[in-house]
Amino acid sequence: MIRTYNYRLFTSAAQDAALDRLLWRSRNVYNAALAQRRDAWESEKRSVTYTQQWAHFRDERRANSETLGILNATCLQQLLRRLDKAFSAFYRRYKKGEMPGYPRFKGRNRFKSIEYRHGDGCKLRFDSAGRTMLYVQNVGEVKVKYHRPVPDGAVVKHVVIKRVLDKWYVSLMLELPDAEPVDVPTDCVGIDVGLTSLLALSTGELVENPRWLQRSLAKLRRAQRCMSRRRKGSGGWKKAGYQVAKLHQRVANQRRDFWHKKTTELVSRYGLIAIEDLTLAFMTQHPHLAKSAHDAALGMFRSLLEQKAGSAAVRVAAVNPWGTSQECSGCGAVVKKDLSVRVHRCSCGLVLNRDVNAARNILQRELGHGLCLGAITWQ
Ligand SMILES: [Zn+2]
Repeated sequence: MIRTYNYRLFTSAAQDAALDRLLWRSRNVYNAALAQRRDAWESEKRSVTYTQQWAHFRDERRANSETLGILNATCLQQLLRRLDKAFSAFYRRYKKGEMPGYPRFKGRNRFKSIEYRHGDGCKLRFDSAGRTMLYVQNVGEVKVKYHRPVPDGAVVKHVVIKRVLDKWYVSLMLELPDAEPVDVPTDCVGIDVGLTSLLALSTGELVENPRWLQRSLAKLRRAQRCMSRRRKGSGGWKKAGYQVAKLHQRVANQRRDFWHKKTTELVSRYGLIAIEDLTLAFMTQHPHLAKSAHDAALGMFRSLLEQKAGSAAVRVAAVNPWGTSQECSGCGAVVKKDLSVRVHRCSCGLVLNRDVNAARNILQRELGHGLCLGAITWQ
């Protein structure tokens, strides 16, 4: 089981500059490697492979210890692999007859992270005072806000150092031993990703956006309006743009925090959690879902839930959601209703919040009809 732990880094001014230099170097290499591929194709119709690029840039790195040489060799490999992946994806989509965008040169604001293999140019250490430090080659020992420890038995695999606005963070990709799943779930729940509520549970519980998040969103909207009223390129516009970016970051942090708490709570309460199996392709085809439910935060809900369930031996079942909002969870009849209808009313007498009805169907699809629905919420 792979999990990611994120930590804030506290850098000195010198470390800040050193990390910026690494990022800048990495971006140069990425763009140079991209140009190499493009030129070889345009002039000789020849494609360049990852192996060829690695051989080329490895020699360059050795010959220029002051410039390219400051990059760790593994970082350089990861960088070239990243480009290789971008090209593979491009060709794959091209062959399928789609119209993919050609891999892009990265501008200053589009290149924000450097990847390491743990123990190779980058390592988590504890100093004599018990403080946690991240050693980074050519940068030094950087202070880490170690708000939660890496669990026992975990192996740190990859390390990604990234800049978000003016702050630095580190992501540790950990490999954890899998927990043994239990056979019989003690308690089970179906969850519908709602259109008006964030989540509807088969127990009748509805989960809304917390008020502090709504406040931040309102602030963000105001900042965006403020920016749009200013002349593009002007000093005031740039200032407002920075405010917008900061608020975006704040909302993103609050969302992540909220989903972390919510998923932890759900995993501690239930042994089986049934959710809709919505793939990205399916959701983007549905404009209504695309707008609200298909918010990036909901992708986060699912991935966090699955991560946490994995380590708590809770089963997450993804079921086909087709028709779950139309079917009656009491008798199985199909009750057609469009998106504006918020309440499910069936001739069998069941009247229920639309999303709660869907959540009950989701759970039933996993368990088979008529099981495990002890607590019915009649409204
Ligand atoms: Zn019914």
